[in-house]
Amino acid sequence: MKYKRILLKLSGEALMGDRQYGIDPQRLEEYAADISAITKLGVEVAIVIGGGNIFRGVAGASNGMDRVQGDHMGMLATVINGLALQSALEDAGIPTRLQSAVHINQVAEPFIRRKAMRHLEKGRVVIFGGGTGNPYFTTDSAAVLRAIEIEADVILKGTRVDGIYNTDPEKDNSAVKFDHITFDDVLRKGLKVMDTTAFTLSQENELPIIVFDMNKKGNLLKVVLGEKIGTKVNL
Ligand code: UDP
Repeated sequence: MKYKRILLKLSGEALMGDRQYGIDPQRLEEYAADISAITKLGVEVAIVIGGGNIFRGVAGASNGMDRVQGDHMGMLATVINGLALQSALEDAGIPTRLQSAVHINQVAEPFIRRKAMRHLEKGRVVIFGGGTGNPYFTTDSAAVLRAIEIEADVILKGTRVDGIYNTDPEKDNSAVKFDHITFDDVLRKGLKVMDTTAFTLSQENELPIIVFDMNKKGNLLKVVLGEKIGTKVNL
């Protein structure tokens, strides 16, 4: 296998499946099966989960809500998703710990870097909920931050698109996919991989990102084994 310790970023929307809102139990089960397959190989798996299927701070702000209040709601949404994912993983027989960046001690452990790393060493999947714990950030930033902190080899950004294209493949049939691209080229071409804060944090710390289609069964395993699927961003 190519990567020993990975940080998997899943958006909240990924959990919706074909629904308009919330969590699709079947999608959750499929993800748990894919994650289970790589833990059995001995890959250490940390996960950052988004909250967009439940609440986004910017959406609240555009409806007149105070942005920080909305972001707090968004962070709690990521904890809800984390609990759902934990439940699905444990149903699949994988020991899992949920650590939250916001204190919610009856529900999740607080984020403690050394504890997280110990869990990983013991073969437990660690889910990081609560984003970075700060408003005005995204879970992409949380994913990069946590990946650097736990010394992950790579960030795997599981999306519903199979990589990075020169234009939006959902809108343009002639869009061309990159197998590999540098951080500089992503910025030069104005491509959207993550928000700028998250992306530059990854670049500065030389942490590669692989964008791939998480909704295709077995893809996660292929990425971990080093098969060339998706798009890899590195220096
Ligand atoms: N959020 C935040 N700080 C963080 C991470 C997330 O305030 O460090 C809030 C923010 O309101 C965001 C919401 O949580 O809109 C859900 O996260 P995100 O939009 O990143 O989820 P995704 O798009 O991955 O589903």
